[in-house]
Amino acid sequence: MFRATTSRAQKGPPVHQPDVPALTAADPDVAALVQGEAQRQFEKIRLIASENYVSRAVLEATGTVLTNKYSEGYAGKRYYEGQQFVDPIETLAVDRAKALFGVDHANVQPYSGSPANLAIYLALAEPGDTVMGMALPAGGHLTHGWSVSATGKWFNAVRYGVRRDTGRVDLDEVREVALRERPKLIFCGGTAIPRTIDFAGFAEIAREVDAVLVADIAHIAGLVAGGAHPSPVGHARIISTTTHKTLRGPRGAMLMSDAEFAKPLDKAVFPGLQGGPHNHTTAAIAVALGEAARPEFRDYAHAIVANAKALAEALVERGFDLVSGGTDNHLILVDLTAKGVAGKPAAKALDAAGIELNYNTVPFDPRKPFDPSGIRLGTAAITTRGLGVDQMPQVAEWMDRAVRAGAEDDAAAVAAVAAEVRELLAGYSMPGWA
Ligand SMILES: *Cc1c(COP(=O)(O)O)cnc(C)c1O
Repeated sequence: MFRATTSRAQKGPPVHQPDVPALTAADPDVAALVQGEAQRQFEKIRLIASENYVSRAVLEATGTVLTNKYSEGYAGKRYYEGQQFVDPIETLAVDRAKALFGVDHANVQPYSGSPANLAIYLALAEPGDTVMGMALPAGGHLTHGWSVSATGKWFNAVRYGVRRDTGRVDLDEVREVALRERPKLIFCGGTAIPRTIDFAGFAEIAREVDAVLVADIAHIAGLVAGGAHPSPVGHARIISTTTHKTLRGPRGAMLMSDAEFAKPLDKAVFPGLQGGPHNHTTAAIAVALGEAARPEFRDYAHAIVANAKALAEALVERGFDLVSGGTDNHLILVDLTAKGVAGKPAAKALDAAGIELNYNTVPFDPRKPFDPSGIRLGTAAITTRGLGVDQMPQVAEWMDRAVRAGAEDDAAAVAAVAAEVRELLAGYSMPGWA
């Protein structure tokens, strides 16, 4: 449970913003939990690589009357009346996505990243077809054909990994698997890739085997939009992304493509997989894309990478073993084996110390996925919060102390870190907070 805001001198916000008076009156139970979550986000160093803080404008858009409206179909071709305002909202989101990423076509309706990827399979493959993606333990996503996912059950999924010595994708291996298996789709991108993705290299292989290359940029979309990671446009014929990670929008997703895939992708999203789009989310996506087109967003994207590099360097100095030795993007994958700690107890100790991240498998992990050797972290949320490279050595120092204190079961030392974290963060308002 969360601590009451009155338990100590609180420089930060005592209540959720925007304020939620009607919710508080109507349902104090839910309201109290929402307040608790706001407090938690205020006082933690949030390093979960897929998370962020959205702007107040994005948050407001998600809480509008657009949630009341049904709009099956696409702008100008709906199955319900009353789309006078929803149509231009969706068109705005689509046009902004096209302009920001420089693509022919965008669909902003997928409910989230996983259903967006399913739509690609539905549009371009038949059950049983061979598809190829990065193995989950190497850093891929479930929906790139992993065995427990529908995509692994319904398709003949083949996989590539990373090299044991470099922790990086080996395009020679990708080519070898592709030439042998002849997949219809090749996915690049993933959830735990600390290095730049070579879209051109993947595209060459896809051309060689006549496969369609899909770039899943869910994690790095904000970096791509802000010019801090190369763009897959011109290389991948289909681009899938969530909108809520580095792109800093609401929970949602988009599919982008050349004109030739516009129709099949649209049909796969609706009516293939979904019913009515979540119009409140669409509006918030439009707002987030508007924000991402501003010059400040480029600064933010580059600051994310600068923070990640600074944090990686400080962690290496403290003896942490980073997969691939460092990072090119927002993400750091740490193998804790050398520290003599497993990922899960370390993640729990760090959380108790006010540093939130997730335990994660590392490539060639000898341990089980539910109790793996590593932790994964990212710098998008703390960058949005306003932390900079000067704070990264301190964050690394806290992480080092918390991991050690956790291993030694020293609750007082863990609590001491949490207090220092709270003190630092009290000086940084929540993004969008008044
Ligand atoms: C997060 C992520 C997804 C899935 O997004 P959800 O919104 O969680 O369904 C898909 N692909 C990649 C690479 C991701 O990182």
